[in-house]
Amino acid sequence: MRFKKFYEATVVDIRATIGDVTKGRAKPVKSEFKSINKSGTATFYSNAVTTEDQSHWEQTIKPVKKFGKNVSLVKFREAWNGDVLVRCSCHDFRYRRGYGATEENFILGKKEKRPSNITNPPPTFPKGKICKHVENLLAVVKPNIPKMYKEFKASHQGE
Ligand SMILES: [Zn+2]
Repeated sequence: MRFKKFYEATVVDIRATIGDVTKGRAKPVKSEFKSINKSGTATFYSNAVTTEDQSHWEQTIKPVKKFGKNVSLVKFREAWNGDVLVRCSCHDFRYRRGYGATEENFILGKKEKRPSNITNPPPTFPKGKICKHVENLLAVVKPNIPKMYKEFKASHQGE
């Protein structure tokens, strides 16, 4: 695993932090691109497979490299191929993965300073610093780049 100077991580780096168990659990999960906001944070929805009364979880992802409204597709793609920050709204991410994601500095938004010693006693729970939804998101983010670019440009139209 290769972490850069400031411990940020690319999609490939982050995927390398996942355990085989979580990788297996990610298989029935489907992540779909939902939207991208004006500052370049993309939202994906994944089906909530195991939680009753919960139709989906929300994953958010943003490149570390900033880009403006006039960005070309090439530069946009470059940003997404660089370091990214991610987050998921699910309980697994919130209570178990957030601390590791904070340690590696790829968490998007509020940092999680409390270690997950109580909720994630090794080795009974799948290891890794991301949940199965983020694993799935990272697998589908690149094929979605053209769609994300189109929507990003559209959100800035007329400015
Ligand atoms: Zn999740």
